[in-house]
Amino acid sequence: MVSQTEREKTGFETRAIHAGYEPDPTTGAVIPPIYATSTYAQDGVGGLRGGYEYSRSANPTRTVLEANLAALEEGERGFAFASGLAAEDAVLRALTEPGQHLVIPDDAYGGTFRLVDKVAGPWGLRHTPVQVADLDAVRAAVEPGRTRIVWAETPTNPLLNIGDIEALAGIAHDAGALLVVDNTFASPYLQQPLTLGADVVVHSTTKYVGGHSDVVGGAVVVRDLDLAERIGFHQNAMGAVAGPFDAWLTLRGIRTLALRMDRHCDNAEQVAAFLDVHPGVTQVYYPGLPGHPGHEVAARQMRRFGGMVSLRVAGGEEQALALCERTRIFTLGESLGGVESLIEHPGRMTHASVAGTSLEVPPDLVRLSVGIETAEDLLADLEQALG
Ligand SMILES: *Cc1c(COP(=O)(O)O)cnc(C)c1O
Repeated sequence: MVSQTEREKTGFETRAIHAGYEPDPTTGAVIPPIYATSTYAQDGVGGLRGGYEYSRSANPTRTVLEANLAALEEGERGFAFASGLAAEDAVLRALTEPGQHLVIPDDAYGGTFRLVDKVAGPWGLRHTPVQVADLDAVRAAVEPGRTRIVWAETPTNPLLNIGDIEALAGIAHDAGALLVVDNTFASPYLQQPLTLGADVVVHSTTKYVGGHSDVVGGAVVVRDLDLAERIGFHQNAMGAVAGPFDAWLTLRGIRTLALRMDRHCDNAEQVAAFLDVHPGVTQVYYPGLPGHPGHEVAARQMRRFGGMVSLRVAGGEEQALALCERTRIFTLGESLGGVESLIEHPGRMTHASVAGTSLEVPPDLVRLSVGIETAEDLLADLEQALG
């Protein structure tokens, strides 16, 4: 057995497979069982056998996932939620009060914007959307003493803008605010925001972390134990926890996260290079391209550049919609980060809810989640679909 301290010094792949795991005490099962139980027998009132009393508060399968997520992000504590948005909601409720202010990316995930605008807004939280790649704009948007959170996504969805995490942490901390980073697009394999000064990392584990498009989930990871206590209190008080089946599936996905991410990156690099010179494409957004405005920052803070590629199609919205309907291997659908390639039209699909706001996306924009199929097949599919 590798001890917990030895484990902390191990590499990412080793942590993904071992952190938080212990062979099952009764059977020796190497893979943690799905503890499908709501409650736990007590030996006398308050006499808990394994520290568990009720599965909203804690469940052994979820405990393994939470310890594993903390290790992947090099944090102290991890929390697993029923969805990415449930994780974000817990962060907002646990760490802000009505009357405070939030800075959010002007191209944030549509659901994040909706949560901030339509749920946290009426509850009393004000927000200012800014371009997180523009540090001066972030500095100007922060209200010292009133801004409680600078929220960043990097790379952003769907335009793949890059925010400089270290610099954003400096701006947030100077104003007495916390930096929260949505690390969904990068995954902890490619980027670890807590090591760059962020205070809180959130994930939609539905995407790369789970990686197989078979489970919806969310995560929060922190280093500071006071923040951990508040997130933990709200996780239990609000109750949007990951169930044991979901936790088990997410753990199953995580064991191959590093392998999958490397192949996602290999394939996305090829797709971006192919689209970059294609006459049917007017612009490619991929931080791995040297001409991308965030390329240097991404090269500094990310291991590689990820599996998401967005493009603008010559001929406008009509051609963009046609491309989405003509691909055969790229499946038309929302979501991202699974082993299979997906294509979507953000303006009509994932980002339809932000039409008419500052977060509106161009109508000729198409987003690709590049999967881990054979690269040549993906290129051939895009070639025939672009016509
Ligand atoms: C999908 C997504 C979310 C929301 O997560 P759910 O699991 O769908 O609730 C948040 N942020 C980003 C960047 C996402 O892609």
